Amino acid sequence: MTLTSPASYYRDTAKVRLADSPRQAGQQRYDVCVIGGGITGCSAALHLAERGYSVVLLEAHELGFGASGRSGGQILPGLGTEMTTVERALGRERARDIWEMSREAVRLTAELVEHHAIPCDLNWGYLHAAVKPRHVRELCEFQAYMARDYGYTALNWLEGDALRAHVVTDAYPGALYESEGGHLHPLNYTLGLARAAQQAGVTIHEHSPALAVRHGQPATVVTQQGEIVTDFIVVGANAYLGRLLPELEGRLMRAANYIVATEPLGDTRAAQVLPCNDALSDANFVLDYYRLSADKRLIYGGEVSYGGREPRGLRQRIDAKIARLFPLLKGVGIDYRWGGDVAITLNRAPDFGRLGNNVYYAQGYSGHGMALAGLAGKVLAETIAGQSERFDVFAAMPHRRFPGGERLRIPLLVLATNFYKLRDRF
Ligand SMILES: Cc1cc2nc3c(=O)[nH]c(=O)nc-3n(C[C@H](O)[C@H](O)[C@H](O)COP(=O)(O)OP(=O)(O)OC[C@H]3O[C@@H](n4cnc5c(N)ncnc54)[C@H](O)[C@@H]3O)c2cc1C
Repeated sequence: MTLTSPASYYRDTAKVRLADSPRQAGQQRYDVCVIGGGITGCSAALHLAERGYSVVLLEAHELGFGASGRSGGQILPGLGTEMTTVERALGRERARDIWEMSREAVRLTAELVEHHAIPCDLNWGYLHAAVKPRHVRELCEFQAYMARDYGYTALNWLEGDALRAHVVTDAYPGALYESEGGHLHPLNYTLGLARAAQQAGVTIHEHSPALAVRHGQPATVVTQQGEIVTDFIVVGANAYLGRLLPELEGRLMRAANYIVATEPLGDTRAAQVLPCNDALSDANFVLDYYRLSADKRLIYGGEVSYGGREPRGLRQRIDAKIARLFPLLKGVGIDYRWGGDVAITLNRAPDFGRLGNNVYYAQGYSGHGMALAGLAGKVLAETIAGQSERFDVFAAMPHRRFPGGERLRIPLLVLATNFYKLRDRF
């Protein structure tokens, strides 16, 4: 487990207050037991309760402890992999279904924020920035491909002054502006979903890890001080799953990703960086991403590591990157720094599936789950209610285990990532 504490800028600016979520104890009976208090779990619990199920949610630590409460907060349609990966596996028609569901995931995020009055500073506008000439070609090809094959026209190419109106740097030869992308405060969004779930009748137990699952009908989830007997189990534990379900081992790799929050820049400096308050990620394979917070800090993320150790010189590298992009921020104070674990699959498509008749999981968003995890929760609820068509579209995506077994998996992934990092230089 990555030992980086979830204490972060987000915890210090959390605004959503919940009812008590005491540790689970004793024997309880529910229709559904949800494991994991991130966006997947909270959204599943909310949508199940709205359908009339009795639902309990177990969170091993605090709500939002995992990626959902630590992320860059960038909201985008699409997956962590290219749509061509999906086309190759499932064909064009299914790929289009998945693409449209990923757009629905973005709309759903906005609807949930509005409907449940979640104070998470949702803002629209997204830039996919080219760092080198190869990226210019690739991004323009991507724009044409999405318009032609998916009818998606929310991407516009910007360069020169048009680009500088969105991001004030000379570092990028151009960028695709995406009007359907945006950003929000991820912990407040997650806590807002949890609060809505509680208001819909969900019982939440924090500091209550699920220690074992006994399959059966009903199934049993064992905790430290009790157990839950349940008709269905939903697993939304993502990179933090550990060894709870041996059937899922090897399907995910944990990669730590890191973020810093600068001191507040003030309105003037913030407007000299991101005048339209867009979010941005660059087109490298190991990409950097950033945005402004509501109090005008630069929230800058990037860098990966495997095996739970923070890379050496991380802080200096991020400082240098910020100064290179925005010379006026050279020497800017860094008030917060944190990391979190991303769950990646071998093909970087999300991994939805079932174990037996009554255990469902959605995981492995590969760094692209802020919007999709919300939809996953809704689709999991539909599935338990007997409408599994949309779940089955995702679940049809074939997934292979990471090669190398327990000992060699991480070294092999480091090797592959280093190859791509090297490629990012050219
Ligand atoms: C640093 C970072 C930056 C990111 N930035 C972005 C971004 O900008 N945009 C984007 O789209 N995606 C981003 N992601 C990915 C995104 O945050 C995730 O895909 C998404 O939040 C996954 O949500 P989840 O609910 O499935 O998992 P998580 O939020 O990880 O939640 C899983 C929860 O399960 C709990 N749990 C685990 N085991 C048990 C158990 N046995 N019993 C009870 N509870 C358990 C954990 O404590 C955890 O709280 C980022 C991820 C990281 C780490």
